[in-house]
Amino acid sequence: MSGNAPGGRGTAAAVPILMYHAVGDDPAPATRALSVTPAAFAAQMRVVAEHGFTPLTAAALAAAWRSGGPLPARPLLITFDDGYEGVHRHALPVLAGHAFASTVFVSTGWLRGRWQEGGALDTMLDWAQVRELADAGTEIGGHSHTHPQLDQLDAGRLRFEALRCREIVAEELGTAPVSFAYPYGYSSRRVRTAVREAGFAQALAVGNALARRRQGPYALARVTVRRSTGVEEFTRLLEGRALGRNFAGDRALTKGYAVVRRARGAVRGHWI
Ligand SMILES: [Zn+2]
Repeated sequence: MSGNAPGGRGTAAAVPILMYHAVGDDPAPATRALSVTPAAFAAQMRVVAEHGFTPLTAAALAAAWRSGGPLPARPLLITFDDGYEGVHRHALPVLAGHAFASTVFVSTGWLRGRWQEGGALDTMLDWAQVRELADAGTEIGGHSHTHPQLDQLDAGRLRFEALRCREIVAEELGTAPVSFAYPYGYSSRRVRTAVREAGFAQALAVGNALARRRQGPYALARVTVRRSTGVEEFTRLLEGRALGRNFAGDRALTKGYAVVRRARGAVRGHWI
């Protein structure tokens, strides 16, 4: 295994954290570029299996990094943001077939049902489906209540977005969520502090890099899987190669966040 390869024990590991959104053959236009087809998702999970990766939940990875405990030889995380219905319909059977762990980060105000606030970009999960995912071993994490740009909010609203999301997941599932993913992937020191104070033990960003322990528990990097991601590129993502190219595309898409991005890296959390 080369020095760059993911995997290994404990603190030295570089871990691919895959970030998915919608899974479907005919997603809404707003979610299409960041969606994958069910067939592509199934093919990607075969690649994960063939390369000998062991998918973990975000909570399990963070627990290992917090304690210095062992990780499987090739740890990897499969994550889904927002809470699209296709995750239950299309991804769950594939994940169950491989016995793969995963984490779904839900925006509670977007999900169908009694907490719904509107604004969702596509057909979302309902709470019965969220419970089925949880019962199948999927970790349910938080992704705010109404999916705002958290760094743009005043202190009260920021606190509400983190706390309300956590309270609703706790009420629906009987267990408070411990992992969070920042909407749009970006955070500031203020956002990270609010997420921690709301009770989340770790949070995931984007960054298009492999995750490493040194990133700290509130700024774990993820790599984006898109509708345009072919099997070859997907394989390179798993190995931590071609991430520069991947990131270059994102910069064009998200240049509005340039100011926010400059603030990234100013503060790192600590694993205690
Ligand atoms: Zn999102």
